[in-house]
Amino acid sequence: MNDNDYREVIDEETKPETEVTSVDEKEDETENEYEDICYICRRPEHIAGKMIRIPNNICICQDCMQKTFDSMNGSGFPMDDMLNMNMGRIPNISMINLSDLQGGMPGSQKLKKKKPKEKKEAAIDIRKIPAPHKIKASLDEYVVGQEQAKKVMSVAVYNHYKRIASEQKDDVEIEKSNMLMIGPTGCGKTYLVKTLAKLLDVPLAITDATSLTEAGYIGDDIESVVSKLLAAADNDVERAEHGIIFIDEIDKIAKKRNTNQRDVSGESVQQGMLKLLEGAEVEVPVGASSKNAMVPMTMVNTRNILFICGGAFPDLEDIIKERLNQESSIGFKAKLKDEYDKDENLLSKVTVEDVRKFGMIPEFLGRLPIMFTLDALTEETLVRILKEPKNAILKQYERLLEMDEVKLIFEDDALLAIAKKAKEKKVGARALRAVIEEFMLDIMYEIPKDDSIGTVTITKDYVEKKGNPLIALRSCPQIAAGV
Ligand code: ADP
Repeated sequence: MNDNDYREVIDEETKPETEVTSVDEKEDETENEYEDICYICRRPEHIAGKMIRIPNNICICQDCMQKTFDSMNGSGFPMDDMLNMNMGRIPNISMINLSDLQGGMPGSQKLKKKKPKEKKEAAIDIRKIPAPHKIKASLDEYVVGQEQAKKVMSVAVYNHYKRIASEQKDDVEIEKSNMLMIGPTGCGKTYLVKTLAKLLDVPLAITDATSLTEAGYIGDDIESVVSKLLAAADNDVERAEHGIIFIDEIDKIAKKRNTNQRDVSGESVQQGMLKLLEGAEVEVPVGASSKNAMVPMTMVNTRNILFICGGAFPDLEDIIKERLNQESSIGFKAKLKDEYDKDENLLSKVTVEDVRKFGMIPEFLGRLPIMFTLDALTEETLVRILKEPKNAILKQYERLLEMDEVKLIFEDDALLAIAKKAKEKKVGARALRAVIEEFMLDIMYEIPKDDSIGTVTITKDYVEKKGNPLIALRSCPQIAAGV
């Protein structure tokens, strides 16, 4: 590098600092090319993070705002003490006197020009949204079975982000692809949504509908789901507006039957959610879950947020069965009354009408146009879940023992025995880990004691507590013994 080069570099670095010496309020509103500087700690936005704006065009970084709150709340700030001290200086507390700040930023304040925004890898860029078959192929790596659900979701997500991208062209407005997924507990509803959000690199908020109540009642109000999403997006409103909100246990907000009381956690919540699902401007607190005077607020538009609702809908099968029985008991095609009693896939025959009968209001269902079901997991699927996904439980245990240089082998019928035990618990794939943990504890405890062990084989008898695992020593791998 010669002298000239150096000069150029220095010029480049210093130029932005000297370029502007004052900022005018109007200009700041319209033109945002200069960085904000925290009024308290003086750090610029690129170091201190997003600024909170308070009146008089003053910016305060989130750290300083938090510290101010903390010192007021946490350092014991009893009003009596304050009076006793004759309004003297109170340690640890620095107050901002708004009247001092009337003039806005001091005129001599040097502002650094904002770096031109780096073009983010926009998740909503239509050319970059993978085609449905590619989304499904990625889901396949993690989620076993549930083929139909994965297919429907891939297409819905693809269309959703295509819709966002096409919004600039105004002629045809494409409807939102909010989804309603119905499936027994532990079959992978949450897991599917989590995997999807990870693959698309969009923020995801997961909420439980049971905790939601109509605004003003004890419980979380409905808009709190949006503030969760904002938090998941690191308070970046733009990112949050393209995120996914998953509301689990949606069946718990079904209309309560035979009740005379005001239904604050059922039908009213459904009513309250209508606007959100469709798309509305919501005012949400930044960096907190509830609204109060101390927390800054921001507006989030839910028009492009993808809502996915999920639930087990426990008695839905009876409603479907009743309908099918009624339909089939008339005319030539009349079938036996218990024809559907043993139908494992009854849930897949669900219609919107059945869900309405269950207690969801039609307006709510109308805003979740994509409805699909997930299958209950069979023993075969459970075995596949044990070994196939990228982060399968078996792979995790194998890796753990590998660190002790011990090879862990599961016999096929041992896997089936694990699946059988898990299925008995009726909580879907969630039971798998508990079942394995039960017998792996001894192995994980005993094996590191003995350096000579080379291989451990888990047998069906061991899983069923009728025998021991097979142990082979490093020196003579053919010899097997129990732990
Ligand atoms: P729910 O349907 O009740 O929301 P989850 O999605 O939370 O159930 O599933 C619980 C766990 O079971 C997940 O964390 C995941 O590890 C596992 N699991 C469930 N279904 C599947 C599946 N189809 N493929 C792979 N893992 C699954």
